[in-house]
Amino acid sequence: MDVLEKLTILTDAAKYDVACTSSGVDREGKPGATGSAVGCGICHAFAADGRCISLFKVLMTNYCIYNCKYCVNRISNDAPRAAFTPRELADLTMGFYRRNYIEGLFVSSGIIRSPDYTCERLIKTLELLRGPYRFNGYIHVKAIPGADSKLIERLGLLADRMSVNIELPSQQSLQLLAPDKTKNHILKPMGFIHNRIQENRYDMVRYRHATKFAPAGQSTQMIIGATPDSDYQILNLAEGLYQKYALKRVFFSAYMPVAEHALLPPAGSPPPLLREHRLYQADWLLRFYGFQARELLDEAHPNINPLMDPKCSWAIAHMDYFPVEVNKADYHTLLRVPGIGVRSAKRIIAARKSGSLDYAGLKKIGVVLKRAQYFITCSGKLLEGLRVTPDGLLRAMITEQGRRLLPQEEYEQLSLFSPLPQQAEQSPFSPKLLQAWKDAAAPPQERRRAL
Ligand code: SF4
Repeated sequence: MDVLEKLTILTDAAKYDVACTSSGVDREGKPGATGSAVGCGICHAFAADGRCISLFKVLMTNYCIYNCKYCVNRISNDAPRAAFTPRELADLTMGFYRRNYIEGLFVSSGIIRSPDYTCERLIKTLELLRGPYRFNGYIHVKAIPGADSKLIERLGLLADRMSVNIELPSQQSLQLLAPDKTKNHILKPMGFIHNRIQENRYDMVRYRHATKFAPAGQSTQMIIGATPDSDYQILNLAEGLYQKYALKRVFFSAYMPVAEHALLPPAGSPPPLLREHRLYQADWLLRFYGFQARELLDEAHPNINPLMDPKCSWAIAHMDYFPVEVNKADYHTLLRVPGIGVRSAKRIIAARKSGSLDYAGLKKIGVVLKRAQYFITCSGKLLEGLRVTPDGLLRAMITEQGRRLLPQEEYEQLSLFSPLPQQAEQSPFSPKLLQAWKDAAAPPQERRRAL
């Protein structure tokens, strides 16, 4: 098999790995133009200074001795297989880099022969790149669960970022769908990498020429929607991983039905992309807004409502927290207001030093008044002319994607004797809207049953 064939197979097999931020463009290459935005393994990641860099995303091999039911590379799947030699992969990376196609490498692998053997092949590739080829670009490598810690250590000294995929949110799901893996199997290398990063920080201060160990930290990836695990379980797990292992990111990957199995969603069912999006929003709240998983969801409400973003959902459920006076509230209180983000909260605090703020000032600062107006006062006043009704508030918070999930509105002819608007508003939410809201928040199995 020539290198181009291997490249086609192994970049395609790597597309399910989302542990690097990638774009969602589907523009294909065309005659007379250079480049294509689909298919072939170039994806984007963001450097520490915010620069977008393109990575060559590829598998070392898609041979695998394991049989994870959700994975296209599982041993029982009849798929074309290929494996790069370390030199082939190093040569390809350098060739692409010199042509300016890529700025870095993202390499993962199926388990060939044993975790140690796979890890050694990855090390060999990275040694070639960092050694004779003097490649100074970004490298993100997957640490192989089950490999010896000496090998993981060597890998970490060659790569910028490492990741160990947690794969599924619970031990129960792992047992069912990835019987060769256990939670401990995955958490052990994660803990090892975390400890080595900490030690390395200390070494860097003590010894001027100490080699950096995974200087860009570690991340992980979780598959969403392959198992009945709730958003509450997923967010709790993500929060625990951030706290215990200081992960840079937890990536969520909407499950693409690639396998026929009784325990998995049927082939052809759409990947839960909106759920993935809402989980990223909630993850953002955990990392930058000071929220805790248990504030956003609980046992009684285990799933994020897809109709609106989790911050708006939280605000609607905690109306006693509002209105917030923007000229007095502290930074963390401001962050809880829908429509006020990290940047605008900082700007509000800075702007208040030179005078009090009004609604026009807030708009200039970048506050999204369309949402924030319902939750704030400026110098004790609500926005002039604003009429807050529970129904109107709920509608205003529903996002564009959420609106598509709602049943089409039916218009009815009002009779002369219909109740006056004020009377109608006495019920907190219109029954239809409230039912749609509840249905949307139901666990996926129940939603399926309802359908
Ligand atoms: S170990 Fe990785 S590559 Fe192998 S079957 Fe499981 S998920 Fe797929």
